[in-house]
Amino acid sequence: MAELRKNPLTREWVIVTTEPPHFAEGQDGCPYCPGSEHRCGPELLAYRDPNTPPDTPGWWVRVVPSGVSQFDSEGDVQRHDEGIYDTMRTVGADEIVIETPTHDEAALVADAQQSEDALWACRERYARWCAPDLVKSVVISRLYPAHDPEHPHWRLLALPVVPQRLWELAKGLEQYYDYRGRCGLCHIAEADREDGQRMVVENRHFVALAPYASMYPYELWIIPRRHQASLACAQRQEMHSLARILADAMRALKGALHNPHCVLTFMCAPCNIEGMEHFHWFLRVLPNVTAPTRAALKYGICVNPVAPETAAHHLRRSAVALLASRP
Ligand SMILES: [Zn+2]
Ligand SMILES: [Zn+2]
Repeated sequence: MAELRKNPLTREWVIVTTEPPHFAEGQDGCPYCPGSEHRCGPELLAYRDPNTPPDTPGWWVRVVPSGVSQFDSEGDVQRHDEGIYDTMRTVGADEIVIETPTHDEAALVADAQQSEDALWACRERYARWCAPDLVKSVVISRLYPAHDPEHPHWRLLALPVVPQRLWELAKGLEQYYDYRGRCGLCHIAEADREDGQRMVVENRHFVALAPYASMYPYELWIIPRRHQASLACAQRQEMHSLARILADAMRALKGALHNPHCVLTFMCAPCNIEGMEHFHWFLRVLPNVTAPTRAALKYGICVNPVAPETAAHHLRRSAVALLASRP
């Protein structure tokens, strides 16, 4: 059983699922490694050798159902009251983008082409799921290093609702546009590039910076330099640049924080809702998220003990040291 439930006080929607993962029983090992294709359900997209049939080895990026929650890809959400509460069916999608056949996070970071292809698959699935009217948001995220299983993968959720924080960001960008007449993220990227204090690394299409009001120590935003509301607008050469700046940022974090655990999330425009042309997608990286989350729970507001300017300084030094040590 899976359903969406609304917290009547905060208006936050939550997926409640009571089913265990649906990997085929009786087999050990990683369900995302080549040779285990049958354990994940039919593949939804694959970049593979054209001489190989679906659901067999021969792929280098593969998208499959998550096997965790049960989403129907079509039909009505059947929103209804349950006493004083509000609930609806989980219509949409819950998918896994398996980024590489190799069960090795470090190998993926080192292979920019592989990482680019995986990011392109995320973009393809985002565009696929933005199209139907019933979908209001597509959330794509991953743990770094990957966990459960420890095979590099993104998780994509296509939802009939917009998560509260994403909605607040969308409304904030809309109000910023109304007030200043320009996109807030374009403005931040431009102003912080000029200022330099919070910049970590940049390339032709992206900047990576520690945002001025970072909620968490060493929080990073990787922002496209060209205004684009939707990830579906990103072009191939931009995904090429994203793969490279993401690898640089992860290496800098690894050097500065000694192998941190990170949460990476694409902050993408809500879908099929008017007024979202002022949104500007970006990739948010939160390192070592557990400790600050505990602090947030303790104080009721995020308390960040590391100034973003200090974090950016350490990360720049880490990135420069890595460049200098390359043969
Ligand atoms: Zn694996
Ligand atoms: Zn913009």
